[in-house]
Amino acid sequence: MNFKMIQFLGKEVPQLIFGSLTMAPLQRNMPAEEGGKIIAYALKKGLRWIDTAQMYGSYPHVRIGIEQSGINRDELVISTKSLCKTYKEMEEAINEAMDEMNITYIDLFLLHAVRSPEDFLDRSGALNALTEAKRLGKIGALGISTHSTICAGILSGDERLEWYHLMFNKKGTGLTDGTLDDQIKVIKEIKKRGARFYAMKPLGGGYLKGMAEEALKWVKDNPLVDAVALGMTSEEEVEMNIRVFTDQAVSEELSYRLSTIEKRLFVFNNLCIGCGECEKTCEQSAIFVKEGKALVSEENCILCGYCIPACPKFALRII
Ligand code: SF4
Ligand code: SF4
Repeated sequence: MNFKMIQFLGKEVPQLIFGSLTMAPLQRNMPAEEGGKIIAYALKKGLRWIDTAQMYGSYPHVRIGIEQSGINRDELVISTKSLCKTYKEMEEAINEAMDEMNITYIDLFLLHAVRSPEDFLDRSGALNALTEAKRLGKIGALGISTHSTICAGILSGDERLEWYHLMFNKKGTGLTDGTLDDQIKVIKEIKKRGARFYAMKPLGGGYLKGMAEEALKWVKDNPLVDAVALGMTSEEEVEMNIRVFTDQAVSEELSYRLSTIEKRLFVFNNLCIGCGECEKTCEQSAIFVKEGKALVSEENCILCGYCIPACPKFALRII
């Protein structure tokens, strides 16, 4: 069996996207050489879309992966994102992405983690810079990523936005508001006007790893989904994901081994300012501030990830 292929501005690429967050400094913190080797392995196995972001710190990993794969850059789709707000900051972010990945254009550039329509308006300078970069041929398409169903719904009709990168998994895990049904309604609106959608966190940030094969199939086979970004940090994970996305059987042993890799919510103490925003967000009473720093009760934490976007300092990660 082969991958389901999708069209991206004249390129035909598999639906499975190599997500580079999990190997990056924010999560596993793999050296760029090591991460790049895994990206190169995935590209040699047929993947053609790599997803990254300015804040991930994975541009060096992506550059090495492309170089080591020997695949022509024009066969690849590279997507990235930035949290920046102003025109100038976004101009710099575009140049930084091209410089650090050693590429001359970016296929897709998103406003990263838009929290609300107000936040979107506040970032109109950055959006204007993306529009201009598209006119100049520096980027191919633009869009937003958001964890908020309400925000995605309000922005679903904005004709400037061509791609939406939204939370999508069978349990609705990680949505900061709304339900999975609400999210599906929003995605239908987006698709109705011809814009496109790629899924983030198909395994709910790790929480659905115990049912990984079933959860991945649920996302990949959903007709609303154009593509799926999935973090990978080993050749084994690449193998398993390719098998699932090409409808091949996954051995019980491989599935078990990957499902038992421990994950937990980690607090970067050097970033935490003890503001308590995470505590206010958590419905499980699993995180609280003590002596100026957030502490996680692993017993109560269900790895839903709701507290992560609430943190103004990006001090929380599921690792
Ligand atoms: S929201 Fe972030 S910065 Fe604030 S206490 Fe929690 S972890 Fe620390
Ligand atoms: S502490 Fe755990 S349970 Fe609470 S919001 Fe964060 S990830 Fe979810």
